[in-house]
Amino acid sequence: MNAWFARNLLYRPAALLRGEPTFRLLRRYRVSQWWEPEELAAYQSAALARLLHYAVRRVPYYRDFAASAEFSSQNLCAEDLSRFPVITKAELVQAGKRLLAWRPPGTTSWKTTGGSTGVPVRLRKNRYATAAEQAASWRCYEWYGIRPGDRAARFWGTPQSTRTRLRYRAIDAVLNRARFSAFAFQESDLAHYFERLSQDPPVWVYGYVSMLTQFARYCLEEKQPLAALGVQAVVTTSEVLSESDRDLLRKAFGAPVYNEYGCGEVGAVLYECERGSLHLMAENLFVELFPDPTPEEPAGVRLVVTDLHNRALPLLRYDLADRAVPAPPCACGRALPAFSRIFGRAYDFVVCSDGTRYHGEFFLYALEAARDRGLAFEQAQFVQLEPDLLKLRIVPAPGYRLEHGRWIAERIQAKSGGRVLVRVEETEAIERERSGKIRLIVALPRPQATTSSHSEATGRNSEA
Ligand SMILES: [Zn+2]
Repeated sequence: MNAWFARNLLYRPAALLRGEPTFRLLRRYRVSQWWEPEELAAYQSAALARLLHYAVRRVPYYRDFAASAEFSSQNLCAEDLSRFPVITKAELVQAGKRLLAWRPPGTTSWKTTGGSTGVPVRLRKNRYATAAEQAASWRCYEWYGIRPGDRAARFWGTPQSTRTRLRYRAIDAVLNRARFSAFAFQESDLAHYFERLSQDPPVWVYGYVSMLTQFARYCLEEKQPLAALGVQAVVTTSEVLSESDRDLLRKAFGAPVYNEYGCGEVGAVLYECERGSLHLMAENLFVELFPDPTPEEPAGVRLVVTDLHNRALPLLRYDLADRAVPAPPCACGRALPAFSRIFGRAYDFVVCSDGTRYHGEFFLYALEAARDRGLAFEQAQFVQLEPDLLKLRIVPAPGYRLEHGRWIAERIQAKSGGRVLVRVEETEAIERERSGKIRLIVALPRPQATTSSHSEATGRNSEA
């Protein structure tokens, strides 16, 4: 479909009908990304003050909190945010209706975020907040040369029920995107996917890392000329993107690869810019960085965010349970706070018996090192059997030998100082989650106190 047609005659009117000022906010966010830091700080302070005032007056959870902490709802300012409690995913679920605002402005819609932790969260959003989320995403896609309405190929899960499937089909049509299902990924499906892409080449490709890499590997092996399709950018999301994955995708698609990080609860959080920094969507989110007292590998700070726009279910100080490494101001010149990396995507870490925490990245390093040495495997997953014992499930590639798996196991044992033991098991395939994602780490269930900091913070799958 023609991009202009899709943008102006489908997406724009659809957004207007839904009461979502996506395009107006997009125009604003194109400008605000170049604000001076002081201007951004002033904007955030004003937005925070309005939000706190609103939350204390309209939301039972915060009204009761303010009452019990004995502070007045009058003259609340941005600095008062630190007096409010940090809220974890478990607490969000537990608080339920008490977090819903009384008579929020405009229409609202419900959003269900995925449940790789077994706890799906239902969240209410007002349309303005939804639009703000989308506008921030489009602003960043523009960094990659992508505009609303440009033809997209989306490698994603497909909904199970017919009704939802039809609804997503309509959304896909309006957004001019073709969907490639995570649940049909046999070789014959991949051949068919390549054919579909050739017939209607996308401007950009979006999806889970595990799906895109599998497809890319297939195209390289079968000598399917994927790079000849003229894709402008590949945007990955929801799963950890390793450097070797990035290289593979760049080579197969013949296009730059950018990483997105977000979550169903607050939407887009970080986007990689052309200089490689991960920028915070600071017009929508205020972020606080918390040091983490627990020993862990690798080290970083905890991200706690406040959604500045959601008036249907105001989320103050929401613990994303992910870790990031803050970076100095980016050479691209944008004032949006920068990070050099994001890891420990919430669900993928294991806690050993002595409390040491190992994030997904720690295990990913070992897999990377294995690939660098030419060890032959397709996919791998770590399942925690006991606090200090993991099972490495490995899908062999041609040329795989027993030593290959053993090498990874030994490396992890060595790097953890003997703390983590790894048993290797070969398998034909690794199952996907209901959302379509593949988990790198399947950890033992943790007691409430720790699982609470354990949110499904990566998938933005609720949005189809
Ligand atoms: Zn930058």
